Amino acid sequence: MGLLSVICPCYNEEESVALFYQELMKTESFFRERNMEMELLFIDDGSKDQTVSEVKKIIAEDSRVHLISFSRNFGKEAAMFAGLEKSKGDYVVIMDVDLQDPPSLLPEMFDYIQQGYDSVATRRVTRKGEPPIRSFFARAFYRLMRKISKTEMMDGARDYRLMTRQMVDAILSMREYNRFTKGIFGWVGFQTKWLEYENVERARGETKWNFWKLFLYSLDGITAFSTAPLMLASFMGVFFCFFAFLMIVFIIVRKLIFGDPVSGWPSLVCIILMTSGVNFFCTGILGQYLAKTYMEVKRRPIYLVKEEI
Ligand code: UDP
Ligand code: MG
Repeated sequence: MGLLSVICPCYNEEESVALFYQELMKTESFFRERNMEMELLFIDDGSKDQTVSEVKKIIAEDSRVHLISFSRNFGKEAAMFAGLEKSKGDYVVIMDVDLQDPPSLLPEMFDYIQQGYDSVATRRVTRKGEPPIRSFFARAFYRLMRKISKTEMMDGARDYRLMTRQMVDAILSMREYNRFTKGIFGWVGFQTKWLEYENVERARGETKWNFWKLFLYSLDGITAFSTAPLMLASFMGVFFCFFAFLMIVFIIVRKLIFGDPVSGWPSLVCIILMTSGVNFFCTGILGQYLAKTYMEVKRRPIYLVKEEI
């Protein structure tokens, strides 16, 4: 018998847990026919509602279900990492509990992995039901990443992915603190089959992401997988030196022809404001990378477990 591990990060999802379990179990017979057993790991990311007791209700009935409960909210990235670390399966799949990653796709994904792919990933081709401004910035983020990072990142890619043990071990070997899994999947390589599907709206409950959180997350992604922003300061420096040189020549020539060296106060103010703005901006970018490095060298654990069943 082979083993399939299903990892499911949950944060305040009391309404979704039971529903998710029901939906997932619809695929059970498919896997039993193929000699695959299932284990299901709910990672409770420090939920403040009844998520833990909902999971315990399921555990009481089904011994294949496990719970890993964090001491506080560490974020979905930490939850996914914990799940991968605790999973024992020959194949591992990560799935959201809100049914936005339809368990009904799982059999098709499994067929592909049997054909020899190392991972089967999903991406949504529509963003129906999402605020247009959020979609716009999400697309812009992926366009930017394609330009400034060598790591492949697909627009609309979900974390919903079925992987072989070999790929999971590769991901686990990356022990960085600032985790950006969408990039890590691409970084480790391996042969990936992409499945596309229409966006599914959340079955119950609410999204845990607001615009600001997503914005900060995108900065995590940029600093984790590109150092291109660090070059901006150098480019700007060269550009402004060149500009300053042209201005000096212009001013000297104008003085020699027309006299009047005093005028030009407003343009001077504009130039000072502009260059000091660029200066601060570049220092800020440096600060971002320094902060990430600082957090990384502390080597804090990625998550802390309070309870494990
Ligand atoms: N999640 C988590 N920790 C968090 C935020 C979210 O484990 O701090 C889980 C959440 O319970 C869900 C999944 O991550 O299973 C995706 O979250 P959500 O549906 O809110 O994100 P969206 O689908 O809106 O991008
Ligand atoms: Mg969701």
